[in-house]
Amino acid sequence: MSLVTDLVEHYQHLIERGELRPENVPTPTPMAAEWDVSVITAKRARSIIIHGVLDQKIKPLSEITDEDWERFLEKVLPPDDNGCTLWDASAPTGYGQFWFGGRMRPAHIVAYTYLVGAVPDGLHLDHVFARGCRSKLCVNVAHLEPVTIAENNKRMWSALRYMASIRVVTELDEG
Ligand SMILES: [Zn+2]
Repeated sequence: MSLVTDLVEHYQHLIERGELRPENVPTPTPMAAEWDVSVITAKRARSIIIHGVLDQKIKPLSEITDEDWERFLEKVLPPDDNGCTLWDASAPTGYGQFWFGGRMRPAHIVAYTYLVGAVPDGLHLDHVFARGCRSKLCVNVAHLEPVTIAENNKRMWSALRYMASIRVVTELDEG
């Protein structure tokens, strides 16, 4: 007797007793020919290779190479009238996202880290309105400054008030 013989008999009995239709006998997980493993395992392996989700493949931003930087620059538009250099690729959160070292990273932080250095712990990289910056998609490091979250919020409100006042003045002029 073996496990396989037992299983065959088990299913035959179920079928003979009318408890299982022959077409409902469970089938093994199909194998992916080129991997010689189940399709589920093969898909996971492919995903790891394509996206590098294994922990050891996730690199710190300090390891950005010149080649990574070349790839980064291909996704950035030339400066606009404000001097903003806008990210022209994936930006699902409103900030540009750059695939580096195993995961998506905010593009403005990648640029700052590569050209200036690491953003100090606990600080937020502000798009500085007072330096002409007008978009969260901007990756021009001359427009970026690490500040506390409180300072960042304060600046955001003052920028919004400023823009609201311009709108009021414009509407008065047009009226
Ligand atoms: Zn800018």
